[in-house]
Amino acid sequence: MERIPVSGPWITQREIDYVTDAVTNAWYGNANMYNERFERAFAEYVGTRYSVALPSCTSAIHLSLLALGVGPGDEVILPDLTWIASAAPIRYVGATPVFADADASSWCLTAEAVEACITPRTRAILAVDLYGSMPDMDALRMVAERHGLPIVEDAAEAVGSEYRGRRAGSFGATGVFSFHGSKTLTTGEGGMLVTDREDLWRRVLFLRDHGRKPGDKMFFNTEVAYKYKMSSMQAALGLAQLERIEELVARKREIFDWYRQGLADLEGVALNAEPEGTKNSYWMVTAVLDPSYGLCKDRLMEEMSERHVDCRPFFHPLSSLPAFAGEIEAERARARNRVSYAISPYGINLPSGQNLDKEKVAYVCAQLRELLAAHGPAAGTAPAAAVLAASGR
Ligand SMILES: *Cc1c(COP(=O)(O)O)cnc(C)c1O
Repeated sequence: MERIPVSGPWITQREIDYVTDAVTNAWYGNANMYNERFERAFAEYVGTRYSVALPSCTSAIHLSLLALGVGPGDEVILPDLTWIASAAPIRYVGATPVFADADASSWCLTAEAVEACITPRTRAILAVDLYGSMPDMDALRMVAERHGLPIVEDAAEAVGSEYRGRRAGSFGATGVFSFHGSKTLTTGEGGMLVTDREDLWRRVLFLRDHGRKPGDKMFFNTEVAYKYKMSSMQAALGLAQLERIEELVARKREIFDWYRQGLADLEGVALNAEPEGTKNSYWMVTAVLDPSYGLCKDRLMEEMSERHVDCRPFFHPLSSLPAFAGEIEAERARARNRVSYAISPYGINLPSGQNLDKEKVAYVCAQLRELLAAHGPAAGTAPAAAVLAASGR
């Protein structure tokens, strides 16, 4: 039987045509045509004034922090539950990542957790839209404003998500996106930084091109900076994908709906939340099991793998990773972030690739059901209650 991969894109003739046109024609005087079209269309989609295409979301976070003036001695608050790419650029600029706890249902930062982490050294808040969910942005922005802190919105996993009618990525001083091959909209590798602030936009354009003014023809560098650019072939692929974004997001939502229906009556399985007033683009369908199943994510992944289904582990709390071992902030986070540590061991991402069909999702659901039936939750334990109990809330 063919394995069911955990993620992957949906490529059509449009993508092939645009990339072919780019590799054929986007040179000489037309070298920038796809980058300009992609950037313009993307800013329009997200609802921001400016956007800059970059080689990755990691570089977009790096440039966001640099443009905001974050540097050595500063602290940046971010969720403990996220991919390491959210945290690494904080270290690139010499600042300290401070890992805050999550909400038990959205799995994203809470305003209270952020506020508890603020010190006189805090310089920015990096909010992550995890697996397509968004934090309570109103509450988060209120805390940020009260303390005069800019937000960088890491919307790498949330293109197409919405909060009170506004698109993910438009809530911070900057918003950043990833177009890695696993993401909802892909350019193979790639990223985007969006902003409404002209000063940040100009600074980012300068920093991403070796510290020279856009359009500089004299090779006259006024600072040592970075080389973070997207190729026109990638931009062409991105433009084609963006022109299909409604379709791509609709497919993600359809896949989630198949899972929701397929797992609805299972006790002790929490899926991605979609609170009222939000739209979740469900980058990764994620199941968090009640601890009473006694099934950790490693074991779940192994057993699903034996059934030809590839899953991914819910992100480990960053503060638990060897990469941050010995750091005082990691130690504090381990003692403090009870929700993150209650959720992460029991969560897996289920296959969410855009090549899925209803039958494949039904197969995955059947495998998971079988597996869980062999274990079974302790009678009468509701999923949310158990996670909350474990979190001490
Ligand atoms: C994928 C991802 C990134 C990094 O994106 P790259 O394009 O691989 O640099 C950053 N943050 C989050 C939350 C991600 O999921």
